[in-house]
Amino acid sequence: MKLRKCPKCKEYSLKENCKKCKLPTEDAHYKFIKLRDEAEIHPRD
Ligand SMILES: [Zn+2]
Repeated sequence: MKLRKCPKCKEYSLKENCKKCKLPTEDAHYKFIKLRDEAEIHPRD
């Protein structure tokens, strides 16, 4: 099961479309991984 998130009302959902505004939701899991990867970048000196 994928966790998704509405880009408009920031509501998490498991559906393809937001239950509030009916907009297509984004894959929240993907964004989470991307943010984590960026946080784990350690520049070499
Ligand atoms: Zn929405």
